[in-house]
Amino acid sequence: MTPVDPTEVANRAAALRARIAAAGGDDVTVVAVTKTFDAGAIDAAIAAGFNDVGESYAQETLAKLPDVTGTPRVHFIGQLQRNKVRRLAPHVDVWQSVDRPELASEIANRAPNARIMVQVDISGEATKAGVDPQDLAMLLDHSRELGLEVIGLMGVAILAEPEAARPGFRRLRSLVDTHGLRHCCMGMTADLEIAIDEGSTMIRVGTQLFGERVQR
Ligand SMILES: *Cc1c(COP(=O)(O)O)cnc(C)c1O
Repeated sequence: MTPVDPTEVANRAAALRARIAAAGGDDVTVVAVTKTFDAGAIDAAIAAGFNDVGESYAQETLAKLPDVTGTPRVHFIGQLQRNKVRRLAPHVDVWQSVDRPELASEIANRAPNARIMVQVDISGEATKAGVDPQDLAMLLDHSRELGLEVIGLMGVAILAEPEAARPGFRRLRSLVDTHGLRHCCMGMTADLEIAIDEGSTMIRVGTQLFGERVQR
């Protein structure tokens, strides 16, 4: 896991806030994505005013959290195998990447009444994670019947030029409205302005806050 310089994170945080303000996103929640960075990155995020942090890898998350000094709200945003849920359950506040009924069931077993988001495939590429939009209503019903609190939808746009993300973002926002949900979690370092323009309520930002990630 890569260490960070807290002063640099503070400077990057100011630049991020300027970008968000310029995009008209003053009410947007920032999830600071600390994957591949060490426990100090989580504390640096908290010091910079970001209490919501995003993690993508189960083993890495479990390894670093004991070394965190502060008390972040942990959003799990990565693809998740069912057998990882039990150990993560005491640490995760929002399960953002729920994309299939079996995973929702396991979360409901291990973390009753947990807060979740359903990840929707807005990439238009069959390879991306997320439930197919046509199966969304069923997964929402299933999750609610299990007692899970569905707080919104999340999506990851295609990795192309930022403007290519717009149709997918618009689609996700319209699904959030159709289902009367609170959060529309979309937008990352490269495309956060477009996401905010399309009605994001929560962005997930790694590179802008912590610098380039070293390949795992
Ligand atoms: C890594 C990751 C991010 C952060 O991406 P950046 O481009 O570094 O801001 C956001 N969302 C998900 C699902 C991720 O895996």
